[in-house]
Amino acid sequence: MQTRFSPAQLADPEMAASAAVIRRCVHCGFCTATCPTYLLLGDELDGPRGRIYLMKEMLETEAQPTAEVVLHIDRCLSCLSCMTTCPSDVNYMHLVDHARAYIEERYKRPWRERLMRSLLAWVLPNPKRFRLALALARLTRPAAPIGALIVGPPVAAMFALTPRTQARPVAPETSPAPVRRGRVALLQGCAEPVLRPGIRAAAVRVLNRAGLHVAFVPGEACCGSLVHHMGRHEAALEAARRNVDLWTREIDTNGLDAIVVTVSGCGTTIKDYGFMLRADPAYAEKAARVSALAKDITEVLADAPLPPGDGRGLKVAYHSACSLQHGQSVTEAPKQLLAAAGFTVASPAEGHLCCGSAGTYNIMQPKIAAQLRDRKLFNIEALSPDIIAAGNIGCMVQIASGANIPVVHTVELIDWATGGPLPPALAGHDFSRRLS
Ligand code: SF4
Ligand code: SF4
Repeated sequence: MQTRFSPAQLADPEMAASAAVIRRCVHCGFCTATCPTYLLLGDELDGPRGRIYLMKEMLETEAQPTAEVVLHIDRCLSCLSCMTTCPSDVNYMHLVDHARAYIEERYKRPWRERLMRSLLAWVLPNPKRFRLALALARLTRPAAPIGALIVGPPVAAMFALTPRTQARPVAPETSPAPVRRGRVALLQGCAEPVLRPGIRAAAVRVLNRAGLHVAFVPGEACCGSLVHHMGRHEAALEAARRNVDLWTREIDTNGLDAIVVTVSGCGTTIKDYGFMLRADPAYAEKAARVSALAKDITEVLADAPLPPGDGRGLKVAYHSACSLQHGQSVTEAPKQLLAAAGFTVASPAEGHLCCGSAGTYNIMQPKIAAQLRDRKLFNIEALSPDIIAAGNIGCMVQIASGANIPVVHTVELIDWATGGPLPPALAGHDFSRRLS
């Protein structure tokens, strides 16, 4: 696609990167067919090609973002299905990340949206605040309709997504591996340990069983992905720099073979730290090193010598999180690991489509998110599975909010099948009676 960026604009690394992305697009429209929002809304401007045109026009002219442009960019899930489809290697993720930051700087949203976005950016990346917010949401659930009336549908969506019970916090536990094959850091995360603390404990057990020593790096915090997708560029870079500093110290002091991630949304962002900090001379090299070490837990376990698993032949519908399949191109390892652990793995139809979670999307765009979730569940339920597995806490919460089938993390199942305890989400389900 021809671009008209001026030399002065191209001196800005963000503009230069976006110009390079736009130039690769040949307007073929292949991506449109696999875009969930185009599929639902049928509007070219709610598909990747249309959005690329909108972003090109906005960035080239350095125009004030209009309400129409913001609407179509906000409706994008950043699911990156378009990137998997694109034959021309268009890095839509980098372009839309830049456009979101551009909009955030220049566009004044209605007060309700500003309030919600600020609240989410303040609460979600901080486990203490998030835990407190969940407790408050449970207590005030009866007042949800009033809140929704004042602040809008996102409030109702937030209450609907709040789990009915609070998971007990689990202190981070590490133990030395019986056979030392390597040393890895496990991302401690922000939302996952609050919502499902059992995932981290399961991940440590499985990594240990695979002969890997697990370290928790003190001071590490949210990876920045939540604020990054809200266009809060500086806040995201601040989070990235802090973690890069901490992990670099750990690499240099004790050595790390990998930085293991159990939340694929975070993994995609950490793998992109090298790009995000490329223009910062103090961080570019360190960030690239950290990104190269970041691995989804299923990538690390793929060739690990795990003991034979006993999945009791239970049928697992594997939901491939967008951030894992489209963001990191990790598609086979989770399914192969589950099959090797003795589960019967089934893949739902339309597996390339997002479940509607997408960070804070299911709160800010509840109508589209609910349609996507229901479509996802329809395809999953058609398989009549015993269990649904996914590798991203956002998808797990989103799918569980409408499912009668238990939803667990892939690593919880691998842990259970190879000697760990029953995942808490499976307790009390019918099939658990025939299991030891
Ligand atoms: S990221 Fe997903 S929702 Fe956004 S344009 Fe691409 S396919 Fe469509
Ligand atoms: S598939 Fe790629 S090249 Fe074709 S329109 Fe979409 S982004 Fe552009």
